[in-house]
Amino acid sequence: MNRKIIHIDMDAFFAAVEQRDFPELRGQPVVVGGKPDSRGVVATCSYEARKFGIHSAMPASRAYQLCPHARFVPPRFPAYKQASEDIHKVFHQYTDIIEPLSLDEAYLDVTESDICNGSATLMARDIRANIHKTIQLTASAGIAYNKFLAKLASDQNKPDGQYLIKPGEAELYLKTLPIGRFYGVGKVTEAKMQASGIQTGGDLKNKSLSELQSLFGNSAEYYYNISRGIDDRPVMSTRIRKSLGSETTFQSDISDTKEMLDHLLLLLDEVLKSMEKRELLAYTITIKVKYASFRQVTRSYTSDAVISVHDKARELIPVLLAKTEVNKKSVRLLGLSFSNLISYEDHTDSGQLPLF
Ligand SMILES: [Mg+2]
Repeated sequence: MNRKIIHIDMDAFFAAVEQRDFPELRGQPVVVGGKPDSRGVVATCSYEARKFGIHSAMPASRAYQLCPHARFVPPRFPAYKQASEDIHKVFHQYTDIIEPLSLDEAYLDVTESDICNGSATLMARDIRANIHKTIQLTASAGIAYNKFLAKLASDQNKPDGQYLIKPGEAELYLKTLPIGRFYGVGKVTEAKMQASGIQTGGDLKNKSLSELQSLFGNSAEYYYNISRGIDDRPVMSTRIRKSLGSETTFQSDISDTKEMLDHLLLLLDEVLKSMEKRELLAYTITIKVKYASFRQVTRSYTSDAVISVHDKARELIPVLLAKTEVNKKSVRLLGLSFSNLISYEDHTDSGQLPLF
């Protein structure tokens, strides 16, 4: 039997919460994130701001150039976390199999639910209406028989809309879809695919598994399957990932600060790659130092602007390292992580999908 998966994605979530809580922001271009005169980045912007070409992950200074009269507001995480909890209370009225991807996105497996006579389409409509009624925010939904397709579908009629991909429609739907829209294809992979002549889902499907293996190694099978609309990953009732990081233990302890910095910068590159792959941004950076004595310390910095950008993190690493005792003690392990994570907002929202 086919599964029934609903992907719910709140519309311009942070900006929508700001507009809900501060009526003077309604109808205005609102940019949540860094200040325009800072090196911060746009976390989310309202649909009014998107009309000026502003999108998430864009430097705030660029957003200001595009729309100087936009209202720039710093993020209020407690408010977003509360709204997210409220949304999950609505989800639980339909199923307990809920996998959040971020504060504002989740997969719901409603296969076994008999609400709305078991119609996933009607349930999605109901969930959205319920969210709107109780939390005064709009959501979009994608309905399909697997996670990959449900996530794509939720983008189709954004904002405040929903879309169903039926079994049998998937291959046609994917055929003309630009490769960058596929979940799990980040900017780096997208460029690599384009260089190999893969522009669309159809192009991807035309590659044999062995061709894909030589290009993408372990990820080949995933790409091979999704181009055919196949995705058997279950909806996992997990909690939101709280942090993402990496660490290195040294063969022999190191005491040269310059060498430590070099290692941390390597870790930074590695962690930023997996952040990009998972479409995550962060507001907190933490370094971890384990001294030769095995005593371990962490030093963190939290910003009101997205911090998981290379230049910014690169500047902060020596500052954080200087707050440890590395100039007096040798070190056996270094780690770097990002936390206070959010996913990129929907910068591909509305109208970019070719309709077949
Ligand atoms: Mg969203």
